[in-house]
Amino acid sequence: MIRYDAETPKRTLELVKSSERGLTPEEAERRLREVGENVLVEGKKKNLFFLFLSQFKDFMLLLLIAAAILSAVVAYVSADAKELIDTFIIAAIILLNAVIGFVQQIRADKAIEQLKKMSVGHARVCRNGTEIEIESTKLVPGDLVDLTEGDVVPADCRILSCDRLLCDESALTGESKNVSKTASPQSARANATPGERRNMLFSATYVTGGNARAVVTATGMRTEVGEIAAEIGNAKTPATPLEKGLNKLGRVVSYAVLLLSVVVFLIGFFVRKGDLTDQFMTAVAIAVAAIPEGLTAVVTIIMAMGVKRMSERRVIVRRLHAVETLGGCSCICTDKTGTLTENRMTVERVWTPYGGRTAERRAFETMEYCTTVKRGENGFFGDPTEVALKRRVETLGIPPARVRAVNPFDSERKRMSVAVESGSGVRTYVKGAADVLLGRCASIADGDGIRPITDADRRRILAENAAMASDALRILAFAYAEGNAAASETDLVFVGLCGLIDPPRAGVREAVENCRAAGIRTVMITGDHGETAFAVAKRLGIASDRSEVVTGETLDRLGEKERAKAVENGRVFARVSPKHKLLIVRELQRAGYVVAMTGDGVNDAPAIRSADIGVAMGKQGTEVAKSASDMVIADDDFSTIVTGVKEGRRIFDNIKKTIQFFLATNLSEVLSILAATICFSRLGFLSSTQLLWINLITDSFPVLALGVERAERNVMRRAPMSASHALFRKRSVASVLFYGIAQSLLVIGVFWYGAARADNATASTMAFFAVSFTELFHAYNVRSETGSLFCREFFSNPILHGTVALGIAANLLLAFVPALSAAFGLVSLDPAQWGVVLGASLGVLPIGETFKFGLRTAERLRAKNRRGAVSGKTIVAPVVGSNRAVHR
Ligand code: ATP
Repeated sequence: MIRYDAETPKRTLELVKSSERGLTPEEAERRLREVGENVLVEGKKKNLFFLFLSQFKDFMLLLLIAAAILSAVVAYVSADAKELIDTFIIAAIILLNAVIGFVQQIRADKAIEQLKKMSVGHARVCRNGTEIEIESTKLVPGDLVDLTEGDVVPADCRILSCDRLLCDESALTGESKNVSKTASPQSARANATPGERRNMLFSATYVTGGNARAVVTATGMRTEVGEIAAEIGNAKTPATPLEKGLNKLGRVVSYAVLLLSVVVFLIGFFVRKGDLTDQFMTAVAIAVAAIPEGLTAVVTIIMAMGVKRMSERRVIVRRLHAVETLGGCSCICTDKTGTLTENRMTVERVWTPYGGRTAERRAFETMEYCTTVKRGENGFFGDPTEVALKRRVETLGIPPARVRAVNPFDSERKRMSVAVESGSGVRTYVKGAADVLLGRCASIADGDGIRPITDADRRRILAENAAMASDALRILAFAYAEGNAAASETDLVFVGLCGLIDPPRAGVREAVENCRAAGIRTVMITGDHGETAFAVAKRLGIASDRSEVVTGETLDRLGEKERAKAVENGRVFARVSPKHKLLIVRELQRAGYVVAMTGDGVNDAPAIRSADIGVAMGKQGTEVAKSASDMVIADDDFSTIVTGVKEGRRIFDNIKKTIQFFLATNLSEVLSILAATICFSRLGFLSSTQLLWINLITDSFPVLALGVERAERNVMRRAPMSASHALFRKRSVASVLFYGIAQSLLVIGVFWYGAARADNATASTMAFFAVSFTELFHAYNVRSETGSLFCREFFSNPILHGTVALGIAANLLLAFVPALSAAFGLVSLDPAQWGVVLGASLGVLPIGETFKFGLRTAERLRAKNRRGAVSGKTIVAPVVGSNRAVHR
């Protein structure tokens, strides 16, 4: 391996066969083909054939195969044609099951693949002398990359040139201190750790300050982090809480069903003296039919379909678990500038305490010089605050000046300074938050002279600051010092204040209101002045009283208990720095909230990571913030976060519906079989092939259709709910039990009718169709947990109608094609018998309607009681699934 550390930048370029103009696009293309994409490959891609084969690993399918073999042997020994038909049907069903499993697996994998593609980072590279932005997966050795604060290093690189470059390499070294980097050659110790290699940059680490140009030396699995990944092996994505819950549920159900299969087998064999093979196959069929083995894959697909829809609504989900967490989100902490406001600033007021030409000139000079914005083809670009200042002074003809030193803005210091050459000397212009700057001023510009600053001056300035702030203006203070004071920024001369307007984004007020109705608390977090923040928050309906404003300083000062209380009561956190964000997230979580936190800078990453849903801004956000996040908002708009929450709730509702459908129909099958075995132990109920058919048609068809249901009307008018709680709360369990029992009663009723009026074959044929149709019609009950089927938009989900119709058609085919009827052991029914089957099956609908009417009435009564019990202006709505209440 070549060690580039000891080489000069020039020699490094030669070694990687690149130049100062970078690679040509053709050469880059060629190298990409040669070395492959810049990704960490997760093991070998599974061959489709093996993926198909792996379907047969499933315990249920193995049981089925055993059953098929057994029936083939019996057919051979007894030379019985019927047994042979059974063998074929079971074989066909095994194949179909495997195909369905295979297709579902491919769809789920593809969706996850797409998810990964959506979250691919970007890199700025220089190719053939032109700067372009490319997906970082397309980087190749020899590419020149430009990096600046907030960028994730996209591949291993050798630094060619850099300016005060600082990196956080903790991802690789575990050492969280910033490492300062250099472009000069180092003595290359053979076993130097990445941390010691100061002129190299490593993939997956990030830039915390300064900037650099570097040449890529290794990509993908050949990077340092790639080697570690290879050592660790194929780390699987961890299961989400919901998946874990489902797996657990699946296991419990499986054991119960296996037990039941054994009981049915024993009764059939010993009590009914049935045929051993028949009994064995029925037991296997029960297990196969009732165990919800496809559930996890179906849930993944529903989530993935939802994620795709979310991306069309500008919400890019980076981690699948965010989808299920969103439904339970009970607090959104949002930045102000750019998310609640437009980040389109305009200077509204420039104020100097005592007027005077000199003071005014210094103010305008500060606006011109004390900035890092650049002029591009389409005007200025850079920090919107500074762009606004530049625009304001554009026409004043302030002469350009040579810059000597820059101490850039950062939200921790809340100020910046630039030293420029002025006449024969140097002058430093400083701007920043008024309270911060005032503390660093010794003098004040008064008229055309300067004099020491007095307490009266400070009071006057702070009064103006407060007046501007209450008009929701963003305020900057200006000061200067003769000489180069960029490093110290002390002993300054106060010049004046400037107020900027940043209009709130359209639709945010409504979005905040929607959150309130949905039991979600909105909290503003900003580096801005408390008064300004409060004025904006008031306009947007986030806060109504000054006491809801908490400053960073207060957070620092308070003891643990008081701080927890302050955070819980706060609506606006002003003058906070990124480190406070982490504290706020933790306190809110401790108080029982499920927190979504927005951020864009490098320093926001820890808070984004700690939040239950870390949200990064698509436009303003740094790569670091994005890679720490669960979700990226493409347009930086607060309303889009709320759209995401709404979508999350819809997706979760649909998952819940699907699971409830699965459970209720399986329960009804199990109960019917159990009841038939116990009550009609002398009669045959459903045969193994019939059970397998029901499992295939009724269980698979409506499930995915339920996954694309539209959001229910009240989706944003109810309290947030945690995923696991939503699934296992009393009402959900009650409806599964109720529907399961109701359906099995209907089926057993039909079977009893058939057996009493005709023979066993007719009875089991009637029961077969009754099971199939009740299950298909039950899909309509599941569409809404409490809402009437006829109230909501009945036609809003054509896929569901289609799949139910298809299911009915497939069953009718069995009924009316003699060969199929014979194969499945069905006999023909007369119109009266069909009438009973259809009447009973459609019976699930009025039963469902009555049950839901009961639920709605109970809910109304509860709400009425609650209203009676709560007085005063605070309405307390419980966050279901958390131990706390949301104060609206
Ligand atoms: P948010 O967290 O909502 O984005 P913010 O953008 O207002 O809030 P910061 O950018 O940290 O927060 O700004 C904090 C304060 O620093 C501002 O109120 C302003 O007084 C000052 N400030 C902002 N930008 C600059 C700048 N470019 N130069 C000097 N001072 C600035």
